[in-house]
Amino acid sequence: MSDCIFCKIASGEISCNKVYEDKDIFAFDDINPKGPVHVLFIPKKHYATLNDIPSQDLPIISKIFGVAQKIAKEKGVDQTGYRTLINTNRNSGQVVFHVHWHLIGGKPLGPMA
Ligand code: AMP
Ligand code: ZN
Repeated sequence: MSDCIFCKIASGEISCNKVYEDKDIFAFDDINPKGPVHVLFIPKKHYATLNDIPSQDLPIISKIFGVAQKIAKEKGVDQTGYRTLINTNRNSGQVVFHVHWHLIGGKPLGPMA
């Protein structure tokens, strides 16, 4: 997707603070962090929302959660706790339409809104 900001981040066209990369997954710090740790995980392949990942590509989800486990540990929030979430479409507040997983931690986050 030529006009997608997260595709441009994954390709290096737009700079970011990279946290992790492999052939399928890219992770980087959120530019507007909601906590001391706020990492975004994306599949390199463009899907606009969670709804748009076809069943044959769903293993990418478990792969991303495996990377999230590793990054949570590296960032030192695995034991204190963190939140992982995916926003999908309008009511969730999704603003970037390249599916992404938030990992937020480093402070008490309070109840979900
Ligand atoms: P969502 O509301 O789930 O679509 O979240 C989009 C997230 O992307 C927000 O937390 C933004 O702060 C973050 N974001 C937007 N642009 C950038 C960027 N260039 N680099 C890092 N994070 C970004
Ligand atoms: Zn994209």
